[in-house]
Amino acid sequence: MSSSKQITFCSFCGKSHSDVKKLVAGPNVFICNNCIAVCQEILQRELAEERAEKAFQLKVPKPWDIKAELDRYVVGQESVKRALSVAVHNHYKRVRESMEPGSGFSGERSLAMLNDEYLKDVQIEKSNILLLGPTGSGKTLLARTLAEILDVPFSIADATTLTEAGYVGEDVENIILRLLQAADYDINRAEIGIIYIDEIDKIGRRTENVSITRDVSGEGVQQALLKILEGTVTNVPPQGGRKHPHQEYIQVNTENILFICGGAFVGLDRLIRKRVGKKVAGFGANLSAPSIAGSEEDNILSMVEPEDLIQFGMIPEFIGRLPVVSHLNQLQEQELVRVLTEPRNSMVKQFIKLFAMEGVQLEFKKDALAAIARRAMEKGTGARALRSLLETMMRDIMFDLPSRDDVEACVITRAVVEGKRPPTFRKRNIA
Ligand code: ADP
Repeated sequence: MSSSKQITFCSFCGKSHSDVKKLVAGPNVFICNNCIAVCQEILQRELAEERAEKAFQLKVPKPWDIKAELDRYVVGQESVKRALSVAVHNHYKRVRESMEPGSGFSGERSLAMLNDEYLKDVQIEKSNILLLGPTGSGKTLLARTLAEILDVPFSIADATTLTEAGYVGEDVENIILRLLQAADYDINRAEIGIIYIDEIDKIGRRTENVSITRDVSGEGVQQALLKILEGTVTNVPPQGGRKHPHQEYIQVNTENILFICGGAFVGLDRLIRKRVGKKVAGFGANLSAPSIAGSEEDNILSMVEPEDLIQFGMIPEFIGRLPVVSHLNQLQEQELVRVLTEPRNSMVKQFIKLFAMEGVQLEFKKDALAAIARRAMEKGTGARALRSLLETMMRDIMFDLPSRDDVEACVITRAVVEGKRPPTFRKRNIA
């Protein structure tokens, strides 16, 4: 406060200290209480405008539209696509509402309903997502595609590299750092991003059902993740690495970040079977009846309850933070063929384009695609095996092709896939 006897004036409005209630002094400047109030008002208005603009930029597509868009990239997995579409729609509706109250409502009628006493103080909680499903069934692809549909930053973390603070390994804050990097250090955008945490099943507690070869308990990592999952302001070291006391941190609020955790949860089906088996015994249920390969385990997994995941080794608080649970099926041969050909950017389409750049028409016979799918299934890594199989198969052909200008078309048959015959080349008529 100005306490000197000389006459001082507000540097903003020019009034003297005797004309105002308070005059705050800075180095060679003064500001009166009236001007402070005006500044505060301006700041609040601008911040509100920024928030409204952010809310406006955030797209909240309808579940039906999200599902239709997912269908263009992800084969099969119908139930999980529906579940994710609803969960993601609700999540971003909640986020937009938190940025600009009123923007989440759809019309007069909902506004009237929401003014009801009964709903007035109800806060919609964040619902992170847990995806159960074998390797190469599309968990990461789903999470990534959702981020693209919503146009929000996306990053992937691997739960097995994380450790609780104080141990050798990665701190959980680095997960947020990666999202921040994906958002080009735009904190506002990072705060509405999506993070996919892979191999979440590997941080289960040691139990008789899971074998973990870690020096740190998975439970500690679950505890460390809990905070960022439920929403907290976290201190992110801008350069990554371990935290140290003299470092400056970037503060990121994780409240509106959507976490999608995924894992194969091998052995979970046995736990569910044990629980369900007990309950349905005597009611004519025959859970071990022979059925199509893969589908029995899928049926069992669709009955998952939080208690099964806790038995598996996840701590109850952690599971409590992942209320949307959905499971992906092991992709069958027919679906793997579709993965090869149908998605917008499918592997087969990519090869056809590469060949077209050489002026060569590439054709895959139906039985060739089925043979590739069968070989991928033998590897047991779902659709992941497809790319390496195709790459290896096409390598020699692609080595020769650019040096030949007499080839017009190349046909891949089942015999080519099985290594029994080289591909057929159709020669160009060179006049
Ligand atoms: P997961 O995370 O379940 O182990 P990914 O999503 O990483 O599997 O899948 C690996 C790759 O396999 C993807 O990049 C994609 O090319 C392909 N893929 C897997 N599942 C599907 C699917 N359901 N539809 C289309 N492509 C898929």
